[in-house]
Amino acid sequence: MIDSHCHLADDAFAQDSAQVLERAQTAGLTRVLCILAADNKTESERAQHLAREWPALRFGIGLHPHQAGQFSGREAEVVPLVREAIASRPETRAVGEIGLDYHYDFAPRDVQQTVFRLQIRLAHDLGLPIIIHTREAEDDTLAILREESAGSVRGVMHCFTGTRRLAEEALALGMHISFAGIVTFPKGENVRETARVVPADRLLCETDSPYLAPTPYRGKRNEPAWVTRVAEELASVRGMAIEDLRGRMVANFDELFRP
Ligand SMILES: [Zn+2]
Repeated sequence: MIDSHCHLADDAFAQDSAQVLERAQTAGLTRVLCILAADNKTESERAQHLAREWPALRFGIGLHPHQAGQFSGREAEVVPLVREAIASRPETRAVGEIGLDYHYDFAPRDVQQTVFRLQIRLAHDLGLPIIIHTREAEDDTLAILREESAGSVRGVMHCFTGTRRLAEEALALGMHISFAGIVTFPKGENVRETARVVPADRLLCETDSPYLAPTPYRGKRNEPAWVTRVAEELASVRGMAIEDLRGRMVANFDELFRP
């Protein structure tokens, strides 16, 4: 099994990451992509330790749209910073998470857009796929993905909660679509509808832990082992045997992230 997106270097796991990694392995996880914030020294120190504890771990490194505001007026620092963070972690397999968040609007939108674009260009340079975070910013996200030819680096729309149109256009660009615990929520019907129609070779699943614990753990700290609940739900809405879905997830992960 896989977890295509989690934040294992987050403060939430600072006390018991060894046990969290152990439970992930017991749950059958063999591939986990851990997201690191490029500007966070504490996370990068923890990542060093995590990578030693579990050599199967892979990383995605980028500047989240929430952090983009710090680079207002010093956008030229974005690429060197992210490039260096990626170079310091040889297990890095993606640039991300990057994107646009107009729900929280923690950073001015024009700065979010610039920081997003610059990191897609870096992904081209490094030959790495991108991990995309998008919230209430569908049109601008799609426009930037197109203008920056993101289809040729490929990537994943992480924790998908968007419209059917966003899914279709992202798929047309060559993106994968990853589902998190929201597919298990009673109010997740829209998301389940999209999960039903994504082609099997473009589907991924994730926890986004420590956030978004699936039912029946909702409200607790999430962890990679619980991706099994997301997988069960995906298999059930798609009418697939769980073994087939698991095999598919591993194959898709390997194809996109080249472990
Ligand atoms: Zn995330």
